Amino acid sequence: MAIIIKFCGGVGTVPGSMHLLLVDKAKILIDAGLFQGRRDEFYAINSGFPFNPSDLDCAVISHAHIDHSGNFPTLVKKGFRAKAYLTPSTRDLCRFMFPDSGHIQEEDIKYVNKINKKRGRPRRWPLYNKQDAEKALKYLRTLQYHKKLSIAKGTELTFFDAGHILGSSIPTFDIHTKKGTTRIAYAVDLGRPNLPYLRDPEIPKGINYLIIESTYGGRRHAPMQTVEEELSKAINRTVKRGGKIIIPSFALERSQEVLFFLSSLLRKRKIKNIPIFVDSPLAVNITSVFKSNWQYFDAESKELFRKELDPLSNRNITYVRNVDQSKSLNKKRGPMIIISASGTCENGRILHHLKNNIENPHNTIIIVGYMPKNTLGRKILEKQPTVNIFGRPHPSRAEVVRLDAFSAHAGSDYLIKYIRACKAPSLRKVFIVHGDPEQSEALRKKVKSLDIRVSVPHKNEEAYLAA
Ligand SMILES: [Zn+2]
Ligand SMILES: [Zn+2]
Repeated sequence: MAIIIKFCGGVGTVPGSMHLLLVDKAKILIDAGLFQGRRDEFYAINSGFPFNPSDLDCAVISHAHIDHSGNFPTLVKKGFRAKAYLTPSTRDLCRFMFPDSGHIQEEDIKYVNKINKKRGRPRRWPLYNKQDAEKALKYLRTLQYHKKLSIAKGTELTFFDAGHILGSSIPTFDIHTKKGTTRIAYAVDLGRPNLPYLRDPEIPKGINYLIIESTYGGRRHAPMQTVEEELSKAINRTVKRGGKIIIPSFALERSQEVLFFLSSLLRKRKIKNIPIFVDSPLAVNITSVFKSNWQYFDAESKELFRKELDPLSNRNITYVRNVDQSKSLNKKRGPMIIISASGTCENGRILHHLKNNIENPHNTIIIVGYMPKNTLGRKILEKQPTVNIFGRPHPSRAEVVRLDAFSAHAGSDYLIKYIRACKAPSLRKVFIVHGDPEQSEALRKKVKSLDIRVSVPHKNEEAYLAA
């Protein structure tokens, strides 16, 4: 019986994870991630699949990050009618992530069509709209961690905890043939130990083939323990000046992590009792999913919930849903903390807060996430003297603080430790995906030095696995 993996997306780059597992006649899709990049590339790459979506026997979604799940509504639009398996928390998160992604696309295309109309160019459509996104939800089927499920003839699926974001999994496939069982594990993305809320990544036993991410294949992170100290210093400096603290943050996981540390600092009285506003409708919805899924947290966070010290419901925190309430924050005087999305400062309510606060040297902007090139977030991080917001120049006078320790991805040291732990005696080969070429290459070299067979597949490469 042939077992083949075709690496369809998220290879040689980070976004757009999508792989096909072929077992005999069965076609199993692993992840349906959105490729994020410039607009034309975004539409061209995400609308084409190197297979017919209606031929798939099932799909498996590793976690709710949009670069792993966000192209699923397109898949459904193009004919997918089978089941897509994910963990219960991932399903709960996708209920908000898919429609939000549809809405962002609708807004983007509205803007493009306005320009196209003026220039006499043809009208364009989003990959999917909010309604398509909602339709796609009915194909989702949940599977609890550690429960085995037969998903195709001779193929069983088990989810192990990836410790990356809430609900994240390492989908593990056991393929039974006459020669025995072949185990394939997909650690994309892989978290790191000691992340707030999350259990540490699990290592499934007896892995024969490991597919692993390499976002930080050649880089290390500052330890998570440094976050509280750095955060408290920046906040206390700003409080003394009577300024506002603006934190651009991704709605999923990062916003809740920031709240975790802020609540801890408040409990320990390391920062003053100042109001905290979470001003992003998506972040507010995602936080409600965190609250209803706390049974999946690590022991430390479960204990906080049991003792009613829930870091997400601190009396200092206000969740802002409506626009008027959001606007009223501008009139309020500091000190205060505002957490808002988008994380890269490219769209969303964060733009208003930056516009209103960036020129005041009493204020502080705390950068807690990766800022891709050409984004407003990157320009602020680089301390460019003037930045454009809503088409107008604003002198950048607020203090800018960067916290490097935040990352939900395993750093190079932990990736190697993880692969080493998978090695004996079963591991036959490691496939490195989900990384910029130099990061994947750095990890490949390290894995090779451990005397483990390893490759960095190129896009649409097919690997034949020995059963
Ligand atoms: Zn991820
Ligand atoms: Zn990813």
